[in-house]
Amino acid sequence: MKEHLLKILVIGDGNVGKSSFVHRYVNGQFNRTYKMTVGVDFSVKMLHWSDKEKVRVQLWDIAGQERFISMTRIYYKGAVGCVVMFDVTDSSSFLKCHQWKQDLDNKAMLPNGSSIPCILLANKSDLSHWAVPADRIETFCKANGFFTWMATSVKDNKNIDEAMRSLVKEILSI
Ligand code: GDP
Repeated sequence: MKEHLLKILVIGDGNVGKSSFVHRYVNGQFNRTYKMTVGVDFSVKMLHWSDKEKVRVQLWDIAGQERFISMTRIYYKGAVGCVVMFDVTDSSSFLKCHQWKQDLDNKAMLPNGSSIPCILLANKSDLSHWAVPADRIETFCKANGFFTWMATSVKDNKNIDEAMRSLVKEILSI
């Protein structure tokens, strides 16, 4: 049995749902009042990927340090994949994804020098008042080197496992 250890980052503006996403994915819960303590921390989830492979997903949440935008290199060190998240009802969190991706590409790269696989997540898709239309997200996704994007709702447990599976698949295919 082969075991992969994948360090995956979750970045994006404050209040978009990052901590809730990690908590939902790892523990299967949505808790309205959940908030991690301030500081970089990670959670682990074990996946039985195939008959021959296990995947240990280590999810790193920046939890409360979003104001720095520029994260320390320690945080990025050894990361092999990334989730960039925004809130579909908050256009400023969408606009900031450009900076988040740039900071990532400046500081994290694979041993061969290419940028790490990154998925763009449009969270809070359960809310009706979307501030960013899907075609704009699609265009931005293609122009900024994300391999795909998905609309998620941590609240309704929509596309959480799907998004992570698609990211892990992309990482393992490299
Ligand atoms: P973070 O600062 O990015 O880690 O965001 P949090 O995980 O703390 O979430 C911020 C707020 O958004 C909390 O009140 C969550 O309950 C709420 N939230 C997170 N995900 C969703 C979602 O998919 N839908 C809705 N309606 N609210 C969400």
